[in-house]
Formats: sequence, structure tokens, C-alpha cells
Amino acid sequence: MRTKSVWAPLLGVQAAVIEAAELDEAAGEMVVAVRVRSKQRRRCGRCRRRCPKYDCGEGRRRWRAMDLGTVRAYIEAEAPRVTCREHGVVVAAVPWARHESRFTRAFEDQAAWLATETSQATVAALMRVTWRSVGRMITRVMAEGLEREDALDGLVRIGIDEISHRKGQKYLTVVYDHDRKRIVWASAGRDAETVEAFFKELGPDRCEKLQQVSADGASWIRTVVQQRCPQAKLTLDPFHVVSWATEALDEVRRHVWNDARRNGQTAVAEGIKGARFALWRNPENLTKNQKLTLASISKTNNRLYRAYLMKEQLRQVFKAGSKEKGMGILKRWLRWAHRCRIPAFVGLARNIRKHVDDIAVTLELGLTNAAVEAANTKVRLLIRRAFGFHSAEATIALVLLTLGGLRPPLPGR
Ligand SMILES: [Zn+2]
Repeated sequence: MRTKSVWAPLLGVQAAVIEAAELDEAAGEMVVAVRVRSKQRRRCGRCRRRCPKYDCGEGRRRWRAMDLGTVRAYIEAEAPRVTCREHGVVVAAVPWARHESRFTRAFEDQAAWLATETSQATVAALMRVTWRSVGRMITRVMAEGLEREDALDGLVRIGIDEISHRKGQKYLTVVYDHDRKRIVWASAGRDAETVEAFFKELGPDRCEKLQQVSADGASWIRTVVQQRCPQAKLTLDPFHVVSWATEALDEVRRHVWNDARRNGQTAVAEGIKGARFALWRNPENLTKNQKLTLASISKTNNRLYRAYLMKEQLRQVFKAGSKEKGMGILKRWLRWAHRCRIPAFVGLARNIRKHVDDIAVTLELGLTNAAVEAANTKVRLLIRRAFGFHSAEATIALVLLTLGGLRPPLPGR
């Protein structure tokens, strides 16, 4: 084996000719000089079409490659510019890296794979890059993945969800495929325009094939869905309904807590403050202590306990097992909430009354709520991991790579 030939597979630069390799022991760096094979030369960096050379660009350039043991490795080569008919003057393509990247494809694929698996600190430390550059890498990896595969093919039942991704009211609109249980589309924003953009990309033919669209009841989603695919049945994701009730319950808890503090009932106020999680949790998951907390609230605080029971009763609507039973429970619940004289729940009842028809369809079609809720929880966790990316695009890339099936395989495997 010639010594030179060993570098190509090590660095993942099969399509290049190795010219020289130099180790700088003090710096812990290996620089391998290569040149692009003649067939691959003078191609547009964006469309890979063969083009005439424009100039030498900024001369020689380096790309960070995968580490060789503990040594940082770089590929060095010419980076001329070409004139593309479509894209104008651009830096020529190199076979080992994506356009406008200072890292090799293998390096980026590994970073993307890791980013979907583990924390930002781990990825940054292991790959010896900043988390922000990981954000740019995965954005490129995602774009390539989307070119390879059209995730919007074959959609029948989808869910549209809005998820906050940054403080200060910044939202992502996310589209799930209920049948394949994955996320197929995401974009910054939460308004009719964003939903429009999705349906535009889907196109009229694929819109016609949609049978069910579930959402959180927002009117701007409803309007667009009714226009673009009138044949699809609109349903309400049950976990949204339950989360409205949880919010109403929390409002009651805060009021009761403030009243107790104002009246100097310190012990009562403390008890209510500590009851937050007991009130939120589903009763089947309560710990022994949380059960005791609830029991004491039932004795000392009638208003808060009634609010809790109402939240729980609303949950039963979706657990009834049939449309008739569920709607029966809902009707009784609406009457109860309407008369309960707890403003947060009177308001909730008014809101839910507007969605009775959607809830009926939801119960009829019996979409498994668990999967949608699980996906929503996963997206939230990913969004937390994406903090520090400084761009919604990179956050979307992390979501689509992890939950959309676009994750690249590990290099060489
Ligand atoms: Zn081009």
C-alpha cells in the first residue's frame, strides 16, 4: 500500500488526489494537501454543473476533517471560482464538503448524528467546535436530506401544532404525520400565512388526499384547512383541551394562594404553593405524598378542589372509549362548569362550547392522542437543546433530523 493512498479513506476524501501530508506535532494538527480529480473540477458549488473557471478565488483553503486519533485534521486545496449560468460567480464544488462549509461532509454528518442523540455540551466538546457551528452544519445536512426525500408524500392524517421556541412569543408551526408518526414539516411563525406555506408546498393533488387534520382549535388553522382541503375532517387534539383545563386550574390555584396570603393564612398559602404538581398530575401517577396533599385540599379548600375535579372530569371525555359516552360526559361537564362560579372554568366552558363539533369528530375518529402528545413533548425537549443556535432554521433542522427521519448515517457505516 502506498503511504499516500491511506489518507483518502481516513479522511473521507475518496474523490481527491493526495499531494502531501504534514503533521504539526506541537499544534496537534495534520494538514493533508489534495487536489480535486479532473472530472470533478470546475463544477458549480450549488448545482454541481460543469462551468468555466472565473478566477482563483481566495487561493488555497482548509476544511476541517474528522480527527485522526487525537490530532485535528485538515484538508487543504485550491478553491477557485466558476461562472455558473444559473448561479453566477460561485466557489467551485469540492467532493468532500458541502457548499459554503469549512468542514468535510463526514465531519458534518457525524456532528449531526450526535446532535440528534445527545446534549449540546457533549457534541461541542467531542467534536471540538462551537454549538453555533453545529447549528449551521445541521442546517446544511437537513437541506440535503430534504432534497433527497420528499417527506410530504403519502400524507393522509396530519396534525398541525404550534410550539414556542424562544422567549418573547416566537413560535414554530410543526406538521406531524399521524400514520408514520414523524414530523414532516416545520417553519417559523404561527399564523395563517405559515399554514398557507405548508399547503402550498403540499400542492393541490396531495391536499386532496388528506382525510384528517388535527390541531389545537386555533381559528387561523381552521380557516386555511377548510379552504385548502375541504374534504379533510378537522379534529381537536385532546391533549390541548386538557392543557386548557390545566391552565384554568393553575389560575384558580394562584387566586386562592393570593387570597390566603392576603388574609394572613400563611400555612394554607404554603400548602397550596406546594400542591402545584399534585394538581397538575394525572391521578393515576400521583405519589403517596401528592395524594395526601390533594386530600387536605379537599377538606380545606373547596374552590380549588372543585376546579381540580373539573379538570379531571374533562379528561374523562377522551377516555370514555366511545363517542356517545364521551359526548355524554362532555355535556354534563359543560353544565357543571357553566354554573360553577369559578371565572376561569366558566371561561373555559365558553371556549370549549365553541369546539363541541370538533370534539365529536375527534371522538368518532378516535385518533391516538398519546403519539401526538409524545411528539409535542419531544419537540419541546429538542427546542430546549437547540438554545444557542441563534436561528430558527437550525432549530428546525434539529427537529427534522431527529423526528423527521432525515438523520444521516454515521460516516463510513
Ligand atoms: Zn449552479
